[in-house]
Amino acid sequence: MARIGFVGLGNMGLPMALNLIKAGHAVAGYDVSPAGLEKLKASGGSTGKSAADLAANSEIVVTMLPAGKDVRAVYLGDGGIVAAAKPGTLLIDSSTIDVESARAVAEAAEKKGLEMLDAPVSGGVGGAQAGTLTFIVGGPEAAFAKAQPVLAAMGKNIVHAGGAGAGQAAKICNNMILGISMIAVSEAFVLAEKLGLDKQKLFDIASKASGQCWSLTSYCPVPGPVPASPANRDYQAGFTAAMMLKDLRLAQDAARAAGVTTPLGAEAASLYGLYVGQGEAGRDFSGIIRFLRGI
Ligand code: NAD
Repeated sequence: MARIGFVGLGNMGLPMALNLIKAGHAVAGYDVSPAGLEKLKASGGSTGKSAADLAANSEIVVTMLPAGKDVRAVYLGDGGIVAAAKPGTLLIDSSTIDVESARAVAEAAEKKGLEMLDAPVSGGVGGAQAGTLTFIVGGPEAAFAKAQPVLAAMGKNIVHAGGAGAGQAAKICNNMILGISMIAVSEAFVLAEKLGLDKQKLFDIASKASGQCWSLTSYCPVPGPVPASPANRDYQAGFTAAMMLKDLRLAQDAARAAGVTTPLGAEAASLYGLYVGQGEAGRDFSGIIRFLRGI
């Protein structure tokens, strides 16, 4: 069992750290906010004075922070993880951040003789609590192999996407498909309503025809055809519109940096921006159909 430092005990990080404790690891946590630290201590964890303090005393460091700027600050800033960790320490960043920041931190870590993985997740708070997250991992093969038992304590599916930054790249590309396809499916249901076509009929036909996709068959944005979808409970999230907007904006940042145009990705980011601006940040991302209907 490993000595693990966990930085960022928020909505996702705390339940992930608790699953590491349940799996028998010795977990020390750090967060700028005290709420998660208290809960970690109450469940058998310990706490450190800073991220650097944890890094100096851990074999593995896991971070779950809001954005790229936070990850850069915690890893690369004065008294950061990279400066404090001993050579051979395995660093795993599970935050969803921009590819450039992920690669910059991995490069600095490698120069110091540290192993680094970007390992963003899908599965949300429910998946973090249940230990069923999907980890989409970028970084060297050897580090990926070493991380397996730790990631397996927090998740069910662990996929290696490629070298440094590939985990973030795969996650934002996937979520760009998801954001665009959810808008496409929603537009089709809004049009069908206006054309007098029954929603169940559209579902039955499109789900067996070339319009078939996950947004339709697993997460249908109208109530009825897929009983488990958030549409059946007033679009209670699930995966919030704010999170979808964050990922679509990350995809646009990456597209700009790579000199690629992604017109539908850009339009999806813009539409989700408008939807979130209507006070719908916390609603499920499939609620975009409400925006398209003009609600
Ligand atoms: P959160 O805001 O609940 O948690 C982030 C935690 O990091 C907070 O407790 C905050 O105090 C702490 N923090 C910020 N700066 C810090 C610093 N410098 N040092 C130490 N601690 C610091 O966010 P979350 O919902 O747990 O999400 C974390 C990451 O996971 C994000 O990148 C998010 O995009 C991603 N994610 C979230 C979900 C979800 O459903 N919530 C799903 C998939 C991925």
